[in-house]
This record gives sequence, structure tokens and C-alpha cells, in this order.
Amino acid sequence: MNCRSCGNFSKYSFLDLGHSPPSNAFLKKKKDMEKVYPLKIFFCEYCYLVQTHDFASRRELFNNDYVYFSGFSKTWINHLKKFVRILENKLFLNKNSFVVEIASNDGTLQDILSKKNYKSLGIEPTDSTAKVAEAKGLSVIKKFFGKNLAISLKKKNFKADLIVANNVLAHVPKINDFISGLKILLKSKGIITIEFQHLMNIIKKNQFDTIYHEHYSYLSLNSAKNIFLKHDLEIFDAEKLSTHGGSLRIFIKHSSDLSKKISKRFKQILKEEKTFGLDRIDVYRNFQTKVENVRKDFLNFLNESKKNKKKLCAYGAAAKGNTFFNFLGIKSTHIPFIIDKNPFKIGKYLPGSKIIVKDEKFLIKNKPDYILIVPWNLKNEIIKQLSYTKKWKAKFITAIPNIKIF
Ligand SMILES: [Zn+2]
Repeated sequence: MNCRSCGNFSKYSFLDLGHSPPSNAFLKKKKDMEKVYPLKIFFCEYCYLVQTHDFASRRELFNNDYVYFSGFSKTWINHLKKFVRILENKLFLNKNSFVVEIASNDGTLQDILSKKNYKSLGIEPTDSTAKVAEAKGLSVIKKFFGKNLAISLKKKNFKADLIVANNVLAHVPKINDFISGLKILLKSKGIITIEFQHLMNIIKKNQFDTIYHEHYSYLSLNSAKNIFLKHDLEIFDAEKLSTHGGSLRIFIKHSSDLSKKISKRFKQILKEEKTFGLDRIDVYRNFQTKVENVRKDFLNFLNESKKNKKKLCAYGAAAKGNTFFNFLGIKSTHIPFIIDKNPFKIGKYLPGSKIIVKDEKFLIKNKPDYILIVPWNLKNEIIKQLSYTKKWKAKFITAIPNIKIF
């Protein structure tokens, strides 16, 4: 396929996760029909972008029934509060700042900003989440962001001092169109901050479950640098974050804006990526084998626990669980139910595996012996929240980077 960043023909496919439905396509009924698509990952030897082969359309993936709401995780809310303090300390936010947040979801960040009296505009294409933001009194444009939307905002005299785009760049099929929109919307001395899951961690820590149809690109600092440069935008700072199993936060300016210095830590991370080999095919070669070992070990565990008549359940119906369950071939006969706090998910079935989503009362009633924590990135928060399960000696499991029981 042609690389979505540089357009060159990219022939190196290093991971095949079989066929799976879109990760957020929860089913209302167990018998509902679902579409499955091949989930294959490529590496571009020219610009170093790792990406999926596109099969599913964007409208199909981010529709009105979209079920990811950022406001359900305390860890994430705290992360955003800290982020706002960093922006204030770096003087990227002041009383007059106009902030545009792309993929503003349920308005969790906008809410924090508005409580501090900052003006913000959210852009969010999924109706289910945008409605929650609007109910909080926040301004939201319910559209996909791209060059056309940026032009129409500019015509209405909207120009941003700060553009925030957290965990969205990977979700964008036409990445060049998206970035040219950022360029248009940004004031000459403004900055863009973007967070994305760092490819280096995906490879290093076997995080194959974060690969799904809704994620089109898997970025490194190096591949991101290359894409932005094409649009006369320059990354001038980068920092490592612990969110989503290891993310990067990058700070971007217009190339013509010479008032901001290129940071040492930005150069340091680029160097680390080079040493690790993210720009070379070799590093991707044995990833499939590592992923298959995770599958083997977890299936062994399932067989053992079945033999010993242990009761199992999962916690956290996050998108990553669906890649995991579907790649492993796990069904409701292995894991009969999964617990989640999100009322939009409760009572529905996971795509592919068709495991039913239940609320926490169901967990207390059933007292399982093992609880698989699906969003391993929120492990500490979940264990604390479920500490009462110790009463019946329940054990927690995480499967990535390899199986752990505690
Ligand atoms: Zn490329």
C-alpha cells in the first residue's frame, strides 16, 4: 500500500492480527451481524511511519454510537489537570488565550479550562460524546477536523493560540490533510501540543493490543518530525508520559517562528529511537513471534484455570481488549462477562468475542477467582477500586507485556 505520510509504496508488513471487527463497534444483541476486516501493520522504509492497511471507512469507525468517553477515568482527568498547569507554567496559556481542542470527546479538558476561565472550542465528530460536552455548556463543533474545516474557521476569524490534539493523530486516515488544517488554524506565534502513544513502547513492551482499526498510524518522534516538517511546522520540544503505556507529548510551532528553542530532551528522544532502531526493519522482524508467545501463554493459563474450575471475568471494556480477545480467539465460553463503569457499554456485547458487559454489582454477586484487567495502563487505579475483591481472595491478571498474576 502507499504510505499515508510520504506516499511511497510501502511493502514491509510485519504484523498480521487476523480478521477483526472495529474495536468500538459494540453489539446491542449477541446475534447482531458484524463486519470484520483484516488487521495488518506496515512499516514505511522511507519516512518510518508504522501504519495499518485501511479497510474500514472512517464513518463506520467513528459513528454516533461511539462509546469511548475520556471522563470515566480518574487517571486521565488528573493527567489533564497536570497538563493545564504545565501549559500555564510554560506561559503557553494566558488570560487571552484561545484554545482549540481537536477530538475534544466529552469535554473533559475543556471543562478544566473553562473552570479556570480560558476560552476554548472543541471539535468532535462523534455525537454521543459531543452531546455530553454540550450539556456541560461547552462550545463544540460536531465535525471531523481537516483542511476544509480549518479554512472555514479561519474565515470566521477563529485562529488559535494553542491547539491541543491528544490521542487523535493516530485516528486520522488522511494525516497530511489534518496537519495542513493545524497549520491554517494556528496563529503565527501559537503552539500545538499533541499526545500519542509512543511506537517504541508498543514494540518494546508487546503492546499489540493497542493496534486496532481505529488507529491508522503508530508514531515515533522521528516519523512525526518528518510529517510536520513537510507542512512547515516544527517540533521544538517533546516529553515522555506514562499514559497509555508510554506516550509522547510534542510541542509544535511554525517553522518561521524563531522565538522558541529546540529542546535538549527532544534531541535525546530522537537519539534513543535511533539507538533502538525504530528507523530500521530489523526491529520489527520478530514482533509477530513475540505477540504469538503472549497468545500461547494466555491460552495455557485459560486451560489451566478451566481444569481447576476457576471462575474468570474481565474488567474494563476498553478498545484494546477487543484486539486481544479477537486475536486470541477468546469467547464468552472462556470469559463469561466483563465489567465496565460506562453506562453506554453495559448490557452490550464486545465486538467479535461477544462477551457481555456488566456493571460492578454483577462482579460482587459472582465473586470470580480471577479478574483480567484489560486496560493494563489503568492497572493501579482499577486494583485500588476493586480492593474489596480481596475478601473472596480474587486475583488480578494482566497479559501485556507478558502474563502476570497478583
Ligand atoms: Zn512513508
